[in-house]
Amino acid sequence: MIDNEIQGIGMTSQRTRDRLVDRLRDKGIKNQRVLEVIRTTPRHIFVDEAMASRAYEDTALPIGHGQTISQPYIVARMTEILLEAGVPDVVLEVGTGSGYQSAVLSRLVPKIYTVERISALLQKARDAHRKMGLLNVFSKHSDGSWGWAPNAPYPAILVTAAPEIVPPSLLDQLAIGGRLVIPVGASKGGQQLKLYVRTEEGFEETIHESVHFVPLLDGAVR
Ligand code: SAH
Repeated sequence: MIDNEIQGIGMTSQRTRDRLVDRLRDKGIKNQRVLEVIRTTPRHIFVDEAMASRAYEDTALPIGHGQTISQPYIVARMTEILLEAGVPDVVLEVGTGSGYQSAVLSRLVPKIYTVERISALLQKARDAHRKMGLLNVFSKHSDGSWGWAPNAPYPAILVTAAPEIVPPSLLDQLAIGGRLVIPVGASKGGQQLKLYVRTEEGFEETIHESVHFVPLLDGAVR
């Protein structure tokens, strides 16, 4: 992180990033490590250059193909919920998108697997991870509703697109004690951010807050 492009200037400078973190703290994010990682992760390299000046606003932004990079507050909140019971040794993310959420996770967790159904987005996300020098993010072009079976079970799974019903494969691939953080619901009918914790007997569900995500879709595309 010595390169000028990563350090940023003006609207992408460290001062601008500090202000974003102040906002997230005001909105209730408490995990100091999460706040510190957001403060030092260059979100502007995960959006198109034309959008870079808005990269440190607390909003979702378009990344092409009808998809969005998640709002920083939501990235922080989901990460905080995922890590609440301790830091897992690996996380499976479904919906790589821009690669920003996986970059944030990669600085908190030893190993990240991430799956994206749109190949063009995955290529860009990989480029951004390479720019940052991240070596612990492993990605795959596929429909993430099926999880990533060979590396299962996972102590933590984070889904960044909303299904109407939680995909059974993701529940199956959760380890005992494992945590699944996922937005659930139709995009029009309102979605809720949910946490599922796998127990010996089944799953404990906690509903967190109302959210707005792009839908989890079937199949992989170019
Ligand atoms: N975590 C991303 C958020 C991207 S938006 C970020 O930080 O930018 C959600 C992403 O999920 C989109 O890129 C979309 O293409 C992807 N997606 C939707 N359905 C999917 C599926 N079944 N499998 C994998 N990815 C999916």
